[in-house]
Amino acid sequence: MSDRDITRRDFLDGMALAVGGAMALPGGLGLEAGAPYPPALTGLRGSTPGSFEALHQLRDGTLFQSLGRPARSGEHYDLVVVGAGISGLSAAYHFHKERPGARILILDNHDDFGGHARRNEFQHGGRTRIGYGGTQSIDSPLPYSGIARGLIAELGIDVHRWNTVLDRDLYRSLGLGPGFFFDRETFGTDRLVTGLGPRIDSATAARLPMSDQARGDLVRLTTEAFDPWPELDPGAIRERLARISYSRFVTDVLGLDAGVLHLYQTRTHGLFGAGVDAVPAQDAMALGLPGFQGMKVDRTVVGPGQNYDSMPSPDADDYYFHFPDGNASIARLLVRKLIPAAIPGSTADDVVTARADYAQLDQAGRSVRIRLRSPAVRVTPGSGAGPTEVVYLEQGRPRSVSAGAVVLACWHQVIPHLCPALPDLQRTALAFAIKVPLVYTNVFVRNWTAFQKLGVNSIQTPGFFHTSVNLDFPVTIGGYHHARRLEEPIVLHLSKAACKPGLPIKDQHRAGRTELYTTAFTTIEATIREQLGRVLGSGGFEPGRDILGITVNRWPHGYAYQYNSLYDDFWLHRGEQPCEVARRPFGRITIANADAGAYSYTDAAIDHGVRAAEELLTHG
Ligand SMILES: Cc1cc2nc3c(=O)[nH]c(=O)nc-3n(C[C@H](O)[C@H](O)[C@H](O)COP(=O)(O)OP(=O)(O)OC[C@H]3O[C@@H](n4cnc5c(N)ncnc54)[C@H](O)[C@@H]3O)c2cc1C
Repeated sequence: MSDRDITRRDFLDGMALAVGGAMALPGGLGLEAGAPYPPALTGLRGSTPGSFEALHQLRDGTLFQSLGRPARSGEHYDLVVVGAGISGLSAAYHFHKERPGARILILDNHDDFGGHARRNEFQHGGRTRIGYGGTQSIDSPLPYSGIARGLIAELGIDVHRWNTVLDRDLYRSLGLGPGFFFDRETFGTDRLVTGLGPRIDSATAARLPMSDQARGDLVRLTTEAFDPWPELDPGAIRERLARISYSRFVTDVLGLDAGVLHLYQTRTHGLFGAGVDAVPAQDAMALGLPGFQGMKVDRTVVGPGQNYDSMPSPDADDYYFHFPDGNASIARLLVRKLIPAAIPGSTADDVVTARADYAQLDQAGRSVRIRLRSPAVRVTPGSGAGPTEVVYLEQGRPRSVSAGAVVLACWHQVIPHLCPALPDLQRTALAFAIKVPLVYTNVFVRNWTAFQKLGVNSIQTPGFFHTSVNLDFPVTIGGYHHARRLEEPIVLHLSKAACKPGLPIKDQHRAGRTELYTTAFTTIEATIREQLGRVLGSGGFEPGRDILGITVNRWPHGYAYQYNSLYDDFWLHRGEQPCEVARRPFGRITIANADAGAYSYTDAAIDHGVRAAEELLTHG
C-alpha cells in the first residue's frame, strides 16, 4: 500500500484514519424558488419513497394494469440514456463529444442525478458542510483503464494532488486512532477499546470482554504460524481457501473458538456487503485478516476465483482521490460538461462549492436534457430502422419519447422488465446481477470533543445497525475547508451493510434489501441516537444536544454484485460470466452500468458507459 493512508477498504472496515469538511457556501436552505434543492434534504435519502414503487410494480407485472396509454410527447432524441448515474452520464458525455449537435435525453427515477454518487449538505451558523451519501472515493482495486483515466483527466481532476488536499496528520496529531466498541448485548458490557493492532498479545486480550478461551484463541489467531495443509502445494491451498468461508476456516480448519470471529465479522462489510461467513478465506487472507501467517501461500498473488476487491494492486493504490461529496463531484463535473448552465465554474476545485441549479437540467431547446423523477418503464425497439420508443412516468403518468438509440445505464435487474424484447438468455444474465444493500449515513454534530477525549476517529461498532462510525476526511479543496478545531461542527460518517449472516450471499442481500425498504427513518434515527450515546457518552457526547442533522442514504440496490467463489462456480473456474452475456448490444439498444462489469467501482461505470456509447457510434 502506498502512503496515501486511507482507502475505501481501510475506511469501511473501521480500522483506518478517518476524517471532515466545512466551507462557506452561499444560501442553502434546501429550497430554491420553492423547489427542493436535493443535496440539502435530510432524513431518508438515497432510494427515497416515490423513486422505486412504480418499478416494483413493473417487476410484479401490475404497473400497466392501472396505467392508461402513454401520452406521445412528440419529442425525438438521437439518444435516450436510462439512468443518470456515472455510467449514464459518461455514456452521454462520450456521445455528445463525438456528435456535438446530437439531442440527448437522460432519464432517472431519483430526484437527484449521480446515481449512487450522491452529495449531502448540512447548514449551520451560515456555513455549509458537505458529506458523501454514496460513492466515497476514486479508489479501485484494479488499475483505472486508459478510458477511465482519460475521462478523469478531461474533467480536470488531478488525483496526484491528493497528498496536498488531505490533512494527513490532523487526527494523529490529536492522538486519535481506531477503536472497537464491545456492546453489552453481545459481550455483557459496553466497552470502547483502543489500541487493537493486527497482532493481539495476551495483555491486550485481557482488556477484552470475552471468555478466556476466546481471548487465548485470539492471541493464537493473530500471532501463531498455522500450517493446516502441509501436504498441499500453494495452488491447491488456494483452491481450498477459495471454497471455504473465513469463519469456517477459523473454526473448522484452525479449530479456534467462534468467539474470536466477533472481532472480524464486519471487517468485510465495506467491500463485500456481507460478513466473514460469506467471504472466501482466500479473499480474507488477501484483505489481511489473520490466520494465514504460517501458510506457504503468498497473499499478494491472485488465486482462482479471488474477488477483484481483494486483489492487491500497487498501481491502483496510487490512483486515489476523495472529494468532500465523494464521487458526486465526478457526476457534477460531467453534468457541467453536458449542461454548463446547471453548474457554475470551470475547475475541479470550484465544483466542490458550486451550487447546482436544478432548474437548468431539463430546458427545451438545449441539446442535452436530464429529466429527474422520471422512471423509464418500457423500451420497445422499432421495427427495422425505425426509432425505439421509450415510455417513462411523469408524476405517475406514462409519457413516450422516440429515440434513434438507447443506452440502458440503469440497474441490470430492471432491464428484463423494461425491455421484454431482449433474448431470454440475455434477460436471465441481466437478472443475475442483484445489487448489494448498503446504508451510508451522515450525522452532522456540533463538535468532536468526545472523539478527542476518547482518543478515536474511527470506531467499529458491530453490535449496532450501523457497524462503523468515522470522523469525516480532513480535506481542504477549492473554497472548502475541513473542520480543524474540536469545537467546530463536523460530519460523522456511519455505514451499514444490510446482511443476514448464515444465509447464502444472494439471500443475505435479498433479506437486507427487504430490511432497508421496511425500516422507517424514525427507527434508524433512534438507533443512531442510542449508538452515539453509548459509544461516545463517556467522552461527554449527548445525542439530544450534539446532533444537528441526520441524512440516511439508503441503498437497497447498492453495489454491483461481484462474483464469489463460495457460490459462483463459474467464477472459480473462470468460465463465461453472466455480465458478458448481459451487456451484449441489441440493435440500437446498448447496455451500460457498473453491473456490466460485475465490478462495483466508478471506473467500471465509466468504462461501460463509454463502451455502450461507442457501440452506438460505431454501428450507425
Ligand atoms: C454506498 C456506495 C458506496 C460506494 N463507494 C464507492 C467508492 O468509494 N469508489 C468506487 O469506485 N465505487 C463505489 N461505489 C460503487 C459505485 O458507486 C458504482 O460502481 C458507480 O457509481 C455506479 O454507477 P452506475 O451509473 O453504473 O450506477 P448507479 O449509480 O446505480 O446509477 C444508475 C441510475 O439508474 C437509475 N435507474 C434505475 N432504474 C431506472 C429506470 N427504470 N429509469 C430511470 N432510471 C433508472 C438508478 O436509480 C440510478 O440513479 C459505491 C456504491 C455504493 C452504493
